Amino acid sequence: MDEKFDCIIVGGGIAGLSAALTLAKNDMKFLLIERGEYSGAKNVSGGVLWGSKLSELVPNYWEEAEGFERFINHRRLTFMDQDSSFSIDFKSESFNETPYKGIVVLRAKFDNWLSGKVDEAIAESKYPDESFIAPNILVEEVLMENGAAVGIRAGEEKFYADTIIIAEGVNNLLTRQVGLQDSYVPADYVATGVKEIIRFDQKVLEDRFQLDGLSGMSNEFIGWGTQGEEGGGFLYTNKDTLSVGLVLGMKDLREKGKKPYDILNEFKQHPTVRDMIKGGEVVEYSGHVVSTGDIRAMPKEIYADGVMIAGEAANLLMNSGKAIQGMDYAMESGVLAAETVIEAKEKKDFSKNTLKAYRHRLEDSYVLKDMKNFQNAVQLLHKPEMHEQVPYVVCDFGKQFFSVKNEPTPKTTKMLLKSVKKHSSLWTLLKIGIKGARAL
Ligand SMILES: Cc1cc2nc3c(=O)[nH]c(=O)nc-3n(C[C@H](O)[C@H](O)[C@H](O)COP(=O)(O)OP(=O)(O)OC[C@H]3O[C@@H](n4cnc5c(N)ncnc54)[C@H](O)[C@@H]3O)c2cc1C
Repeated sequence: MDEKFDCIIVGGGIAGLSAALTLAKNDMKFLLIERGEYSGAKNVSGGVLWGSKLSELVPNYWEEAEGFERFINHRRLTFMDQDSSFSIDFKSESFNETPYKGIVVLRAKFDNWLSGKVDEAIAESKYPDESFIAPNILVEEVLMENGAAVGIRAGEEKFYADTIIIAEGVNNLLTRQVGLQDSYVPADYVATGVKEIIRFDQKVLEDRFQLDGLSGMSNEFIGWGTQGEEGGGFLYTNKDTLSVGLVLGMKDLREKGKKPYDILNEFKQHPTVRDMIKGGEVVEYSGHVVSTGDIRAMPKEIYADGVMIAGEAANLLMNSGKAIQGMDYAMESGVLAAETVIEAKEKKDFSKNTLKAYRHRLEDSYVLKDMKNFQNAVQLLHKPEMHEQVPYVVCDFGKQFFSVKNEPTPKTTKMLLKSVKKHSSLWTLLKIGIKGARAL
């Protein structure tokens, strides 16, 4: 392997594999290096890959059904207090159509499957013996010459390329080494994700969640379940398992000295969650850092001479309460970085003059447009009132509204005002309402 590659990709997660697939389809010579035993071995995700980008990369992927667990046609957002839950529930048969609006994936399986697609594309490309996926190797350094990235070092081995795509995920060691990020992302802008996989008899799971064929449900939770910590919960249906977990603000956790797994155990005891997971067996648990999607934590630039940063390494993620979008952002940015490599090769210019086109592509894509447009929603979601007051108001109102008593019933507005006074204030909720309406 002494030859110089067109590109070296560091990281075989979704961003790296999407870049690799794009390069292979365009007859580029590349080396993708993944530190895990295989792609996905080190990855954790609650698991909905939103949108239909995957169908562009792997047309008709749903015919294989090996990579994904279920498609989403049922979505639920649940507010919880200590003994109740109030949900916004949406189910649509139109979501059964391909390409799906979202699919639930288990990363160890999905990334490995996607990596197989890269291998297939390499085999069909002009250079079947000159592009490689190399697992089980940790990239320790990006090699620089005269301020430009020219290769990587893994142990004693050095490999060279015209361009490097850093797709190392949220722990941005190499992004910092090449000078694109000054320091670790501050704790205010990262969260800890904890997740369990709970196994069921498939029929039990399908009956319990009214799943038909490969249809699935995603449920997000806000309120009591995080025990006063900033964050939220999730529950996604896989084929015969559930992914259940929490995403908790790192700073809040550190300040309050709480352990994420203790909070997850409490969350699982809530009557609503308890009924959903009853009878299941925990077969796996994992934890991972995840960005909060705050745009202020993005690297100061996402390209430099010879190098681009894709996926969560560039802090590309959005969590505005509706969904966590990290995987589709990783996919889109990986593809855009690869397209920029192709352009740079055509121009024979790998300097930042050409690589800045990556930034432009990302600015023109939905990724940066949405991150900017919905940034106020992201920041609003992290306000303490959102998990300490709003869910309690909603559930208290639910308790009044859905109770039928043998006595005169107050008007609905009166009930609502009573709940607001008990758990918050009109002024606080008015501010949240106005901010929320503007942000969304
Ligand atoms: C609990 C939890 C729930 C989540 N839920 C969702 C969800 O429902 N939907 C969603 O879209 N997103 C979700 N996310 C976020 C999503 O998982 C990430 O945004 C996404 O995985 C980012 O992809 P990536 O390719 O940029 O990075 P990663 O998936 O982290 O991949 C990075 C890869 O690089 C490799 N690597 C790192 N450093 C090196 C090195 N030096 N040398 C070699 N290899 C290296 C790693 O092993 C890894 O395989 C969730 C995250 C967590 C933690």
